[in-house]
Amino acid sequence: MWTHAEFVRNVIYNEETAVAYLREKNLLDDPEVVAINCDKCGSVMKNKRRKVKGSFVPVMRCPVKGCQTFKSARTGNSFFHYSDLNNKTNCKLSLCQILDIVYFFVCETPIKYAEVITGRSHSTLVDWYNMCREVCTKIVQQKGQMVGTTTEPIQIDEARFAGRRKYNRGRLLQGNLGPESTDSEAEIENNRNHGNRIDGPWVFGLKKGLDCRYFFVDRRDRNTLLPIIIRECAQGSVIHSDEWPAYGTLNSHGFLHSTVNHQRHYVDPNTGTHTQSIERSWLDAKIKILLTMRGTAIHMLQSHLDEYCYRMMRKESVDLYSDFLNDIREVYR
Ligand SMILES: [Zn+2]
Repeated sequence: MWTHAEFVRNVIYNEETAVAYLREKNLLDDPEVVAINCDKCGSVMKNKRRKVKGSFVPVMRCPVKGCQTFKSARTGNSFFHYSDLNNKTNCKLSLCQILDIVYFFVCETPIKYAEVITGRSHSTLVDWYNMCREVCTKIVQQKGQMVGTTTEPIQIDEARFAGRRKYNRGRLLQGNLGPESTDSEAEIENNRNHGNRIDGPWVFGLKKGLDCRYFFVDRRDRNTLLPIIIRECAQGSVIHSDEWPAYGTLNSHGFLHSTVNHQRHYVDPNTGTHTQSIERSWLDAKIKILLTMRGTAIHMLQSHLDEYCYRMMRKESVDLYSDFLNDIREVYR
């Protein structure tokens, strides 16, 4: 992936380089390659540049005399050219500014640092990070069913994504990962593995290698979890879990289910069943998500889970920025 300095030189040097890059990546149409018609007279538009505040901005223009209607070069991609609720096109930011924010999102730059680096306001960054997270959501939702095999079973588990109850009034963990939260992690683990399970917010997870899918659920009873398992896992899949009763009927639903008893073993000595991979992943996800979400309302949790799962899915990407833009194209074109 490009360093930020290379990215500035190659992509966001000015609006013309930004448009050229997006056209090369097929995120925007070039009217001289793909015919784009004038909204007024239907003629084929041409590339033009317009001077805005002292610098050139690429636009499309109708060549017909007396018409000469302009169209934004962003037309056709609602990620860069989205309409607000009043159907007014929102173009407060230049393409360079948007692409720059996307760069910092891809790099997992905390919003407070992205504010300093880009000079954009806190609320602008929050909006654009949310837009990026929507891309993650749509991409992870497109995944087909998981297939669990004997050598690579699907591990399922539930975890509570919150700190101590007394600090948890409708909001997620306040973000201290100091001694206090080490403490509450221990409490979560303890409650999860040894009966006496406390109430939500719960996250139900399925994991097989880099394919992980996490869902925010109100309850972790059979009526809630079974439909998710049936939706996400192919029939005949091998599934490993602990002995939580909600999983008790999986075999009668066409899965090959085996369990490990956490009170006695970590890895079942007879069946080899274990759920260590998902348990490690929980801890990793919790720390990351709770840190970025501190003080964020609970209804945002699912989108943060989707971002986490998206990043796992793209973990082996050598150019995440480029891949993320491809994913924007997938979702918004
Ligand atoms: Zn025209």
